[in-house]
Amino acid sequence: MRFPLTPQLIDEARRFELRSACRDCLFWIARKQECLHGWPDEGQRRWPLDAPMPDGSAPTEAAFCKEFELR
Ligand code: SF4
Repeated sequence: MRFPLTPQLIDEARRFELRSACRDCLFWIARKQECLHGWPDEGQRRWPLDAPMPDGSAPTEAAFCKEFELR
């Protein structure tokens, strides 16, 4: 699921210590840097939410995975 990356979302993610990225998910295999289910990275691996995109540009969206399970 994708949402606009608004200043309010960035602020609330910091204040409430949001955990939504693969690195905090039960299904993330850190040593392989991949998802146990084999899901491709559609933006849900990026953390923090406002980290630069691979091309160095500022992100405009946040992606949340429906299968995320907090570890
Ligand atoms: S289930 Fe989703 S959030 Fe969890 S590791 Fe896989 S892609 Fe990332």
